[in-house]
Amino acid sequence: MNAPHQPDDWAMYDDGSAPNSEVEGGVSSPVPITGIRGRLTSQAPLAKLVWFKSGGEADWLFEPADAEDLREFLERLDGQLPVMALGLGSNLIIRDGGVPGVVVRLGKAFAKVADLGNHVLECGGGASGILVSSTARDAGIAGLEFLRGIPGTVGGFVRMNGGAYGREVADILIDCDVVMPDGNCIRLPACDLNYSYRHSALPEGAVVISARFQGQAGDPEVIGAEMDRIAQAREDSQPLRSKTGGSTFKNPEGHKAWQLVDAAGCRGLTLGGAQVSEKHTNFLINTGDATSADIEGLGELVRDRVRAHSGVALEWEIKRVGRV
Ligand SMILES: Cc1cc2nc3c(=O)[nH]c(=O)nc-3n(C[C@H](O)[C@H](O)[C@H](O)COP(=O)(O)OP(=O)(O)OC[C@H]3O[C@@H](n4cnc5c(N)ncnc54)[C@H](O)[C@@H]3O)c2cc1C
Repeated sequence: MNAPHQPDDWAMYDDGSAPNSEVEGGVSSPVPITGIRGRLTSQAPLAKLVWFKSGGEADWLFEPADAEDLREFLERLDGQLPVMALGLGSNLIIRDGGVPGVVVRLGKAFAKVADLGNHVLECGGGASGILVSSTARDAGIAGLEFLRGIPGTVGGFVRMNGGAYGREVADILIDCDVVMPDGNCIRLPACDLNYSYRHSALPEGAVVISARFQGQAGDPEVIGAEMDRIAQAREDSQPLRSKTGGSTFKNPEGHKAWQLVDAAGCRGLTLGGAQVSEKHTNFLINTGDATSADIEGLGELVRDRVRAHSGVALEWEIKRVGRV
């Protein structure tokens, strides 16, 4: 099976670090960067880093060398600019005017997963769902298989309460470590995140650098078979090889969003270069050269048609960020 379509690989150096105090873009940094080891880029294009492959630039993109580097950088920034974490951009529309402030992207140093014993995994905030679920399988830890089908990072799962097949992050999260926009590091237990469907109370600008997930004892063969089943089900039902952003709208109480979209006659509907997927009507697709305005505008058009047809107000699941 081909690998699913994904953003370009991490732009980090092999050892997870960048040369001392590098600023790309030829302008002065928002904070003194002596001793900062990560990579700081001004006017950084984000389209290549997100699944939709559209949208503008980050005023600043910071790719920290490690957790201490991130803490130090944000402490120096001291909340003077807005901070936004970026995972694999699998649930994001980056608007065409770009993102103000600093976008933080976690690289290889944050992509590790370790078995802590007692069926607990410690996962870096940048680790992928596939890595977490396959590490769990190899360690005989059941209950994390659903992450196999969600193409994001642990940080994105924790913020979005990612879920599938009747399970969600709220069911497995013990706690997470976050760096706040002023550089403060705190450990948040799951109960502080007030989880609901695809929503958490994670503070604005907080960057999840690690999380501990609880599973239970399981047979690696059975776990592996379930992961294969999930991968196949995804392949059959979702446009995995398209430029997309996952489920566009939350399922309203008592409804399936895709059915409401379909019933409103929106299957295949287009606006500019954006299209409602023929394969799964709760997915929007960039058919080639869509702008983020096309994609977001199509989503709004679908919402209008669904409201007119069934009276239901669909709520966006995809996060839309930045300047129009
Ligand atoms: C083909 C496809 C299928 C999908 N299927 C599912 C599914 O079954 N279930 C499901 O729940 N989702 C699904 N999604 C959506 C998406 O994968 C999830 O929402 C995922 O949790 C997003 O992770 P990400 O790392 O890519 O986050 P991004 O898309 O990069 O960001 C999403 C949000 O999380 C925040 N964020 C990202 N990293 C961090 C961090 N380290 N710390 C703090 N905040 C952070 C961002 O600021 C943003 O607010 C699917 C997407 C696609 C493209």
